[in-house]
Amino acid sequence: MEANRDVEAFMQLLDQKLHEAKDMLIERFNFIASQSPKAATFMYENHIMAGYIPEEGIRSALKHGTLAIGQLGLAETLQLLIGTDQTTETGMELAKRIEALFKKRCTEFKEEYKLNFGVYYTPAENLCKTAMIKFKQKYGIIPNVSDKKYFTNSIHVPVWHKLNAFEKIDIESQLTGYSSAGCITYVELDSSSVHNIGAIEKIVNYAMDHDIPYFAINVPNDLCLNCGFTGEMNDHCPQCDSTSIQQLRRVTGYLTGDYKTAFNEGKQQEVEMRVKHTGVEVEE
Ligand SMILES: [Zn+2]
Repeated sequence: MEANRDVEAFMQLLDQKLHEAKDMLIERFNFIASQSPKAATFMYENHIMAGYIPEEGIRSALKHGTLAIGQLGLAETLQLLIGTDQTTETGMELAKRIEALFKKRCTEFKEEYKLNFGVYYTPAENLCKTAMIKFKQKYGIIPNVSDKKYFTNSIHVPVWHKLNAFEKIDIESQLTGYSSAGCITYVELDSSSVHNIGAIEKIVNYAMDHDIPYFAINVPNDLCLNCGFTGEMNDHCPQCDSTSIQQLRRVTGYLTGDYKTAFNEGKQQEVEMRVKHTGVEVEE
């Protein structure tokens, strides 16, 4: 990659922010570890907290936890820096450089402090919207970056990209290995795919062959509260025309009831902008 001053300045700033995040995590960890075991007597007296040694204080148990540095909006970052995202070769090249720095620093912090620092690829359920509001106040509307209400989940391919399931796995699997504290990759399928077990199996095997650590297939599962019909309904039931519909969607890691009440406006818009990752290869 040609030397690009914006990229170099960004990498330096990112490095500085990773160190600041580490300092904040340590400060919080030390504060929590300074609490008395009496704050949760039941846990400390009943061997619930593994590794707890009374003479050493609760730090002896808490040190086994994770100190995660979360990340969101890789796609928007790449757009700002080089005008493309990780779905292109140049975008992927810079994506790997960014992710490698996250991973390298967390590995070093882990060694240095003997604490489980890790890179966490996060959907940032609330921050995805809050950070975007702040960003717009400062920088205004920038195409492919702030022309919407949310930042894209971690290293995910932007939800509006038209790709099939295999192509999405090909791209994201090149980056999931840099996450040492957790990540998820999902593909969106039609509700009819539940009847095509062969295709589902093919996709799951493909994800496993590409070392995806945590893979999910999202199938819309809407329920008509009037007649009980299930399938994908956006505003009314095709069977009884009722508009009383519960829309169960996997928005992030968990199934959380109707996404229109469980998530903020940013995530709701993200769900509405998602395209299905179907294509000829998926059909059996
Ligand atoms: Zn109905």
